[in-house]
Amino acid sequence: MNEASLALPQLFIATSNAGKLRDFRAAAAILQMRIAPLPGLNEIPPPAEDGATFEENARAKARVYSVARPGLLVLADDSGLEVDALGGEPGVRSARFADDGGFDIEIAGAMPGTDQRNNLYLLQRLRQLPGAEHAPAVRWPARYRCVLAAAREGACLLTAHGVVEGAILSTPRGGGGFGYDPLFYLPELDKTMAELDDETRQMLSHRGRALRALLAGMRERGC
Ligand code: IMP
Repeated sequence: MNEASLALPQLFIATSNAGKLRDFRAAAAILQMRIAPLPGLNEIPPPAEDGATFEENARAKARVYSVARPGLLVLADDSGLEVDALGGEPGVRSARFADDGGFDIEIAGAMPGTDQRNNLYLLQRLRQLPGAEHAPAVRWPARYRCVLAAAREGACLLTAHGVVEGAILSTPRGGGGFGYDPLFYLPELDKTMAELDDETRQMLSHRGRALRALLAGMRERGC
Protein backbone atom coordinates (compact mmCIF):
# COMPACT_ATOMS: atom_id res chain seq x y z
CA MET A 1 0.00 0.00 0.00
CA ASN A 2 1.47 3.41 -0.92
CA GLU A 3 1.22 6.73 0.94
CA ALA A 4 -1.46 8.09 -1.39
CA SER A 5 -3.77 5.13 -0.69
CA LEU A 6 -3.27 5.50 3.07
CA ALA A 7 -4.84 8.96 2.86
CA LEU A 8 -8.06 7.60 1.33
CA PRO A 9 -11.26 7.29 3.45
CA GLN A 10 -11.52 3.88 5.16
CA LEU A 11 -14.50 1.53 5.30
CA PHE A 12 -14.73 -1.77 7.17
CA ILE A 13 -16.44 -4.84 5.78
CA ALA A 14 -17.50 -7.82 7.86
CA THR A 15 -16.09 -10.57 5.67
CA SER A 16 -13.06 -12.83 5.76
CA ASN A 17 -13.82 -14.29 2.31
CA ALA A 18 -10.76 -13.49 0.17
CA GLY A 19 -12.72 -13.45 -3.12
CA LYS A 20 -15.34 -11.03 -1.79
CA LEU A 21 -12.66 -8.82 -0.27
CA ARG A 22 -10.84 -8.64 -3.63
CA ASP A 23 -14.04 -7.54 -5.40
CA PHE A 24 -14.88 -4.93 -2.75
CA ARG A 25 -11.30 -3.61 -2.66
CA ALA A 26 -11.16 -3.23 -6.45
CA ALA A 27 -14.49 -1.36 -6.50
CA ALA A 28 -13.49 0.84 -3.54
CA ALA A 29 -10.17 1.80 -5.15
CA ILE A 30 -11.99 3.06 -8.25
CA LEU A 31 -14.14 5.19 -5.94
CA GLN A 32 -11.08 6.57 -4.12
CA MET A 33 -11.94 4.66 -0.92
CA ARG A 34 -10.11 1.97 1.03
CA ILE A 35 -11.88 -1.07 2.35
CA ALA A 36 -10.51 -3.45 4.98
CA PRO A 37 -11.81 -6.49 6.86
CA LEU A 38 -13.44 -5.57 10.17
CA PRO A 39 -10.76 -5.80 12.90
CA GLY A 40 -11.07 -8.96 15.03
CA LEU A 41 -13.94 -10.30 12.91
CA ASN A 42 -13.25 -13.91 13.90
CA GLU A 43 -13.70 -13.10 17.59
CA ILE A 44 -17.29 -11.88 17.08
CA PRO A 45 -20.01 -14.58 17.21
CA PRO A 46 -21.69 -14.40 13.78
CA PRO A 47 -25.48 -14.03 13.53
CA ALA A 48 -27.46 -16.91 12.03
CA GLU A 49 -27.94 -16.34 8.30
CA ASP A 50 -31.55 -17.53 8.41
CA GLY A 51 -33.34 -14.54 6.85
CA ALA A 52 -35.79 -15.05 3.99
CA THR A 53 -33.98 -12.46 1.84
CA PHE A 54 -30.42 -11.29 1.16
CA GLU A 55 -31.41 -7.93 2.64
CA GLU A 56 -32.52 -9.44 5.96
CA ASN A 57 -29.24 -11.33 6.29
CA ALA A 58 -27.07 -8.37 5.30
CA ARG A 59 -28.89 -6.10 7.80
CA ALA A 60 -28.58 -8.65 10.60
CA LYS A 61 -24.85 -9.03 9.98
CA ALA A 62 -24.24 -5.28 9.78
CA ARG A 63 -26.16 -4.71 13.03
CA VAL A 64 -24.40 -7.45 15.01
CA TYR A 65 -20.89 -6.57 13.82
CA SER A 66 -21.34 -2.82 14.28
CA VAL A 67 -22.48 -3.35 17.89
CA ALA A 68 -19.30 -5.35 18.47
CA ARG A 69 -17.11 -2.59 17.00
CA PRO A 70 -18.56 0.71 18.26
CA GLY A 71 -17.41 3.86 16.50
CA LEU A 72 -16.89 2.15 13.12
CA LEU A 73 -19.09 2.33 10.07
CA VAL A 74 -19.51 -1.37 9.31
CA LEU A 75 -20.57 -2.86 5.99
CA ALA A 76 -21.88 -6.42 5.67
CA ASP A 77 -23.10 -8.30 2.63
CA ASP A 78 -25.15 -11.27 1.63
CA SER A 79 -25.07 -12.61 -1.90
CA GLY A 80 -26.05 -15.50 -4.09
CA LEU A 81 -27.54 -16.82 -7.30
CA GLU A 82 -31.18 -16.50 -8.43
CA VAL A 83 -32.39 -18.80 -11.23
CA ASP A 84 -35.71 -17.79 -12.79
CA ALA A 85 -36.72 -21.34 -13.76
CA LEU A 86 -36.31 -22.36 -10.09
CA GLY A 87 -38.43 -19.47 -8.80
CA GLY A 88 -35.34 -17.58 -7.61
CA GLU A 89 -33.57 -20.53 -5.96
CA PRO A 90 -30.95 -21.07 -4.66
CA GLY A 91 -31.15 -17.45 -3.39
CA VAL A 92 -30.23 -17.10 0.28
CA ARG A 93 -29.39 -20.82 0.33
CA SER A 94 -26.74 -20.50 -2.43
CA ALA A 95 -23.83 -21.55 -0.20
CA ARG A 96 -25.67 -24.62 1.15
CA PHE A 97 -27.96 -25.44 -1.77
CA ALA A 98 -27.03 -29.11 -2.27
CA ASP A 99 -26.88 -29.87 1.44
CA ASP A 100 -30.26 -28.24 2.18
CA GLY A 101 -31.78 -29.96 -0.85
CA GLY A 102 -30.70 -33.40 0.44
CA PHE A 103 -28.50 -34.03 -2.60
CA ASP A 104 -27.49 -37.62 -1.95
CA ILE A 105 -25.68 -38.68 -5.10
CA GLU A 106 -22.26 -40.10 -4.25
CA ILE A 107 -19.75 -38.27 -6.38
CA ALA A 108 -16.04 -38.70 -5.76
CA GLY A 109 -14.58 -35.48 -4.41
CA ALA A 110 -17.91 -33.66 -4.15
CA MET A 111 -17.81 -33.26 -0.38
CA PRO A 112 -20.69 -31.66 1.57
CA GLY A 113 -20.61 -27.86 1.43
CA THR A 114 -18.45 -27.69 -1.71
CA ASP A 115 -19.02 -25.55 -4.80
CA GLN A 116 -18.78 -28.68 -6.96
CA ARG A 117 -21.69 -30.32 -5.13
CA ASN A 118 -23.81 -27.17 -5.37
CA ASN A 119 -23.14 -26.96 -9.12
CA LEU A 120 -24.01 -30.63 -9.67
CA TYR A 121 -27.21 -30.23 -7.67
CA LEU A 122 -28.16 -27.06 -9.57
CA LEU A 123 -27.78 -28.91 -12.90
CA GLN A 124 -29.74 -31.87 -11.58
CA ARG A 125 -32.61 -29.57 -10.54
CA LEU A 126 -32.60 -27.80 -13.91
CA ARG A 127 -32.50 -31.04 -15.91
CA GLN A 128 -35.57 -32.25 -14.00
CA LEU A 129 -37.64 -29.31 -15.27
CA PRO A 130 -40.34 -30.18 -17.82
CA GLY A 131 -38.94 -30.09 -21.36
CA ALA A 132 -35.28 -29.81 -20.29
CA GLU A 133 -34.44 -33.28 -21.66
CA HIS A 134 -35.39 -32.12 -25.19
CA ALA A 135 -33.21 -29.01 -25.02
CA PRO A 136 -29.78 -30.10 -23.77
CA ALA A 137 -28.11 -26.78 -24.71
CA VAL A 138 -30.72 -24.63 -22.96
CA ARG A 139 -29.54 -21.54 -21.06
CA TRP A 140 -31.52 -20.73 -17.94
CA PRO A 141 -31.80 -16.97 -17.18
CA ALA A 142 -30.23 -16.15 -13.82
CA ARG A 143 -28.48 -13.41 -11.88
CA TYR A 144 -26.00 -12.90 -9.11
CA ARG A 145 -27.29 -10.53 -6.45
CA CYS A 146 -25.43 -8.84 -3.64
CA VAL A 147 -27.04 -6.79 -0.89
CA LEU A 148 -24.81 -4.57 1.20
CA ALA A 149 -25.90 -3.01 4.48
CA ALA A 150 -24.16 -0.20 6.36
CA ALA A 151 -24.60 0.14 10.12
CA ARG A 152 -23.16 2.06 13.03
CA GLU A 153 -23.56 0.88 16.62
CA GLY A 154 -26.42 -1.46 15.79
CA ALA A 155 -28.44 0.99 13.69
CA CYS A 156 -28.74 0.04 10.05
CA LEU A 157 -28.28 3.21 8.00
CA LEU A 158 -29.08 1.92 4.54
CA THR A 159 -28.87 -1.01 2.13
CA ALA A 160 -28.08 -1.28 -1.59
CA HIS A 161 -28.36 -4.02 -4.23
CA GLY A 162 -25.99 -4.97 -7.04
CA VAL A 163 -26.97 -7.39 -9.79
CA VAL A 164 -25.23 -9.16 -12.72
CA GLU A 165 -27.59 -10.72 -15.26
CA GLY A 166 -26.61 -13.93 -17.06
CA ALA A 167 -27.70 -17.52 -17.65
CA ILE A 168 -26.87 -20.97 -16.34
CA LEU A 169 -25.20 -23.31 -18.87
CA SER A 170 -25.83 -27.04 -18.97
CA THR A 171 -22.08 -27.79 -18.73
CA PRO A 172 -19.39 -25.93 -16.76
CA ARG A 173 -16.70 -23.85 -18.52
CA GLY A 174 -13.51 -22.28 -17.18
CA GLY A 175 -11.30 -22.73 -14.14
CA GLY A 176 -11.35 -19.30 -12.48
CA GLY A 177 -13.65 -17.70 -9.92
CA PHE A 178 -15.56 -19.67 -7.29
CA GLY A 179 -19.06 -20.88 -6.46
CA TYR A 180 -21.37 -21.06 -9.46
CA ASP A 181 -18.96 -19.17 -11.77
CA PRO A 182 -18.22 -22.10 -14.18
CA LEU A 183 -21.97 -22.34 -14.94
CA PHE A 184 -22.76 -18.61 -14.94
CA TYR A 185 -22.68 -17.39 -18.57
CA LEU A 186 -22.53 -13.78 -19.74
CA PRO A 187 -24.09 -13.65 -23.23
CA GLU A 188 -22.56 -10.29 -24.17
CA LEU A 189 -19.03 -11.64 -23.54
CA ASP A 190 -19.74 -15.22 -24.65
CA LYS A 191 -17.89 -16.37 -21.51
CA THR A 192 -18.68 -17.79 -18.13
CA MET A 193 -17.58 -15.90 -15.02
CA ALA A 194 -14.94 -18.62 -14.55
CA GLU A 195 -13.43 -17.74 -17.97
CA LEU A 196 -12.93 -14.04 -17.21
CA ASP A 197 -9.68 -12.41 -16.13
CA ASP A 198 -9.73 -10.93 -12.62
CA GLU A 199 -10.00 -7.35 -13.82
CA THR A 200 -13.09 -7.98 -15.99
CA ARG A 201 -14.74 -10.09 -13.29
CA GLN A 202 -14.20 -7.38 -10.68
CA MET A 203 -15.48 -4.70 -13.03
CA LEU A 204 -18.73 -6.63 -13.60
CA SER A 205 -19.10 -7.85 -10.04
CA HIS A 206 -22.47 -7.60 -8.26
CA ARG A 207 -20.45 -6.71 -5.15
CA GLY A 208 -18.81 -3.77 -6.91
CA ARG A 209 -22.21 -2.60 -8.14
CA ALA A 210 -23.71 -2.87 -4.65
CA LEU A 211 -20.79 -0.94 -3.17
CA ARG A 212 -21.11 1.85 -5.72
CA ALA A 213 -24.87 2.08 -5.05
CA LEU A 214 -24.33 2.07 -1.28
CA LEU A 215 -21.72 4.82 -1.38
CA ALA A 216 -23.92 6.93 -3.65
CA GLY A 217 -26.78 6.49 -1.15
CA MET A 218 -24.55 7.38 1.79
CA ARG A 219 -23.31 10.51 0.04
CA GLU A 220 -26.91 11.54 -0.72
CA ARG A 221 -27.90 11.11 2.93
CA GLY A 222 -24.70 12.64 4.25
CA CYS A 223 -23.80 9.61 6.40
P1 IMP B 1 -22.54 -15.62 1.17
O1 IMP B 1 -22.78 -14.26 0.59
O2 IMP B 1 -21.23 -15.70 1.88
O3 IMP B 1 -23.71 -16.11 1.98
O4 IMP B 1 -22.32 -16.66 -0.01
C1 IMP B 1 -23.23 -16.84 -1.00
C2 IMP B 1 -22.95 -17.99 -1.94
O5 IMP B 1 -23.44 -17.52 -3.21
C3 IMP B 1 -21.51 -18.38 -2.19
O6 IMP B 1 -21.09 -19.42 -1.36
C4 IMP B 1 -21.55 -18.84 -3.65
O7 IMP B 1 -22.03 -20.15 -3.74
C5 IMP B 1 -22.60 -17.92 -4.25
N1 IMP B 1 -21.98 -16.70 -4.83
C6 IMP B 1 -22.07 -15.43 -4.37
N2 IMP B 1 -21.35 -14.60 -5.15
C7 IMP B 1 -20.77 -15.37 -6.08
C8 IMP B 1 -19.88 -15.09 -7.17
O8 IMP B 1 -19.44 -13.95 -7.43
N3 IMP B 1 -19.50 -16.15 -7.92
C9 IMP B 1 -19.94 -17.41 -7.67
N4 IMP B 1 -20.76 -17.73 -6.68
C10 IMP B 1 -21.18 -16.71 -5.88
